[in-house]
This record gives sequence, C-alpha cells and structure tokens, in this order.
Amino acid sequence: MMSPEIETIRQQLPGWLEASLPCVGRGKVASYIPELSKAPHDALGITLMNPQGESVTAGDCGLRFTMQSISKVFTLILALMDNGEDAVFSKVGMEPTGDNFNSMLKLELVRPGIPFNPMINAGAITVSSLIRGESPNEKSDRILQFLKELAGNTDLEYDLGVYRSESDTGNLNRSIAFFLKENGVLSGDIEKVLEVYFLHCSIAVDCADLARMALVLACNGSDPLTGKALIPRRYVQIAKTFMTTCGMYNASGEFAIQVGLPAKSGVSGGILTFVPGRYGIGVVGPALNNKGNSYAGVHLLQSISREMDWSIF
Ligand code: GLU
Repeated sequence: MMSPEIETIRQQLPGWLEASLPCVGRGKVASYIPELSKAPHDALGITLMNPQGESVTAGDCGLRFTMQSISKVFTLILALMDNGEDAVFSKVGMEPTGDNFNSMLKLELVRPGIPFNPMINAGAITVSSLIRGESPNEKSDRILQFLKELAGNTDLEYDLGVYRSESDTGNLNRSIAFFLKENGVLSGDIEKVLEVYFLHCSIAVDCADLARMALVLACNGSDPLTGKALIPRRYVQIAKTFMTTCGMYNASGEFAIQVGLPAKSGVSGGILTFVPGRYGIGVVGPALNNKGNSYAGVHLLQSISREMDWSIF
C-alpha cells in the first residue's frame, strides 16, 4: 500500500502529463551543442520519489539525457565541501544576474569581475576549478563518484558523444574562461578547467536518477533510503537558495511564482526539483522555451504544484 498522497499523485499524473504534452510542440531542442539536437523533440517524462522510497513515474521517464547545468548544483556542493564557504565565495558571488546563462556581460561591467553566482556558466566554470584533485581526471572522478552516491546508481557514466560535441564547439565558454583568467578568478591551464566542466555537464541520467539526487536535497543532505549523511545541511541550504533564486536561468522569478519549488534546469531539457522533506523530482522534456527551460516540463510542474499546493512561498 502506497502512502495516500503519493497514491493520489499516481492516479492524477497521467492526466497532468497528457495536459502538458501539447507544449512540446511550442519548444525547441537545443542545438548549439550539436549532439543535443538528436534528443526526441516530443518526449516528456517525470519521476517523483518520497523518503520511503516509493516512486511514481509517467511518460518518457526512462529517457537518458545529460545533466548539463543541473550538475552545477552538485559541483557547487562538492566545492563547498572541499574548500568551505569563504574560499568559494571569494571567487563567485551570490546574486542572480537576470542575463542568459552563458552571458559574460557583467564580468566586464561590474567590479570586481567575479561571476555573479555559481548557476551561470562563468560561475560554474569557476566552481569546477575549485574541486579538489591533482588532475582533471581526479577532479572529474570525484564529481562522478559523488553523483553516483547521490543517485544510488553506480552505473552513472559520461555521454562522451555529448562531451566531445561540446568540447569541440564550446567557444563561448572558452571565452568566458579566458576572461576569468584575465580577471584573476581562474589560473593555470584553461583547457584543463574546461575539461572538468564539460565532463560533468555530460553525465547521463534518467528521471529516477534526478529524483533520487533531489530527494537527498529534500532531506537536508541525508539519503533517507540508506540513512547516510551525504551533504552537510548548511551546504544544502546554500544550494537550495541558489536553485530558488537562479536555478531556472532568467525565468527563476516566474518559476518561483508559478511553481514555487527550488529547481535547476539544464539545456538537455532536464529539471531537478524537490518538495522539502517530501519528494525528490526528476523531469525531462528536451523541447525548450525561449529561456532555455523545458517547455512542457515547466508546465507539468506547474500543474502538479498547484494541484498539490506545494509552493514553499
Ligand atoms: N554545458 C552547457 C553549457 O555550458 C550547460 C548549459 C546549461 O545547461 O545551461 O553551455
């Protein structure tokens, strides 16, 4: 017997998903990383998991996709665990930008020229450079191991096709990184920093992996299924705050009003979100709106959150 609330969700979910499906036609699959354009345009899937380990799924929840910017939440947490708050926030700020995720505008406009926050590319590239490890390999391995533990899935791996595709074409991120070096935020070999960044963006997951990772955040850093404390509560609090204020790019304010949950999206169409103490949620819908978020995925989360009265505000 499932707990009553998740049973209600199980009954309603197919209807909510159905109602969101028309939105896929309004979105566009990202193509600036050429390999991402191969994702199925009309896919939409969701998995929700509660601390008892009960889960409900609908649609294309088994689709594999790369984490892209969703990984930024966890590299931030790992960098905080490696270095502490003071060291991390001497290199990256705490404020939303209102600009596109890959914008470098404010690096020149505002002094000191450190990235505004760890959820935009400039901030996340800086965070990648702070992960402990002697080599890009060691840093990347530590990130992958951390994500495997959070997802309770030892099979997580990189999608090397997406990695190479981004590494071959990522000139804007290269410019950002060189600009950061010029500003004294990054040092050393820029290609090595970018290798770590592109690799963690290319980690392949499905909705269940995201839901389980989100569940750990929902439970303040403990995995309710194993009882293991994986993240200090303070660092979950910091990540949760960034997710709420800048996790959905320059649509974070709108998402806070319409859905009201901490969330992070990626250009592959994934969204990781959670209801504090109650559910970890993973969504995929590769067709994006003009702010870079899954068109149908946001619509679906809006329906569920409204119906279940989940807004934290
Ligand atoms: N790897 C992607 C990039 O740097 C991540 C972007 C995203 O998901 O927002 O462009």
